[in-house]
Amino acid sequence: MLKRRTFFKLGLVGTAIGLTKPLEAGELIKQSFDSEPKRSTPIVISTWNHGLAANAEAWKVLENGGSAIDAVEKGVRVTEADLTNRSVGIGGMPDRDGHVTLDACIMDDKSRCGSVAFLEGIDHPISVARAVMEKTQHVMLVGEGARQFALDQGFQKIKTPIPEVNKQWKEWKKEQKELNKRPEINHENHDTIGMLAMDAHGNLSGACTTSGWAYKMHGRVGDSPIIGAGLFVDNEIGAACATGLGEAIIRIAGSHTVVELMRQGYSPMDACRLAVERIISKHDDLTNLQCCFLAIDKNGNVGAHSVYNGFNYALKMVSTEKMVDSPFNRNW
Ligand code: ASP
Repeated sequence: MLKRRTFFKLGLVGTAIGLTKPLEAGELIKQSFDSEPKRSTPIVISTWNHGLAANAEAWKVLENGGSAIDAVEKGVRVTEADLTNRSVGIGGMPDRDGHVTLDACIMDDKSRCGSVAFLEGIDHPISVARAVMEKTQHVMLVGEGARQFALDQGFQKIKTPIPEVNKQWKEWKKEQKELNKRPEINHENHDTIGMLAMDAHGNLSGACTTSGWAYKMHGRVGDSPIIGAGLFVDNEIGAACATGLGEAIIRIAGSHTVVELMRQGYSPMDACRLAVERIISKHDDLTNLQCCFLAIDKNGNVGAHSVYNGFNYALKMVSTEKMVDSPFNRNW
């Protein structure tokens, strides 16, 4: 039962923010009472159009009072399981040698994190990353070691590339041979899912999962499984994730940079913009150099920015479910 004093404070807060309408992000109910846990309005954001379906799944966790870490894991699993998705999970495109190698990481409100990279033939890399976080003393497992760990944990073995993707890769290989070309990574085929969520307790978590750039060199790992590059969460400040050319994002420790800029007082929007500007300043040639950041602060304010136009993100709150176009620095 609420104490009289607590009830009075709740009444004041309720009046101040107009509790007759559904709460939006940023409208934090500041319940800083004695021993009661803080309450907040949940929100989930994720990169690109595939974020809509992923957010819907994450929302089922959040609306039932579940944790942000469960929400982000469940959310991005939807994208990983979608066999029509060519940039995330086992339906993803292979490297130039025909191997689908998956990268993923996850980070919670206690700054615990787990990651897998260069993982082949296992479904749901995000859950393997979570198992690394929760069941080992390590943060990151890669390649055959990550695969062995996943199998020991009971994860399912999957044959990749799936037949449609294998056919596409064979055609690409033939074409490259005929043109006598050095294999090139495919700049159109990427699109990691990065997801950030705040739960009803005001706690933040994030997840990031990808098959990386199509036709990358065998062994290449991008930003997505690198804590601080593809994803970073600091529950006192905010969280950020990235998509785009991983090599450029790693060079500025992108997601960590965004969170540190928010720590300095920049809004999520400005923090993402400044990180993009830093990437631009470190490169002489911006051809095909698309990098995008998405961020949320501790009050549920959201922001994004990309080098080029075209980046969008999915947003889900109590009363809103929509795609939002990100601001950008230049047109393609
Ligand atoms: N960042 C991913 C990578 O470099 C790809 C992407 O998000 O577009 O592997």
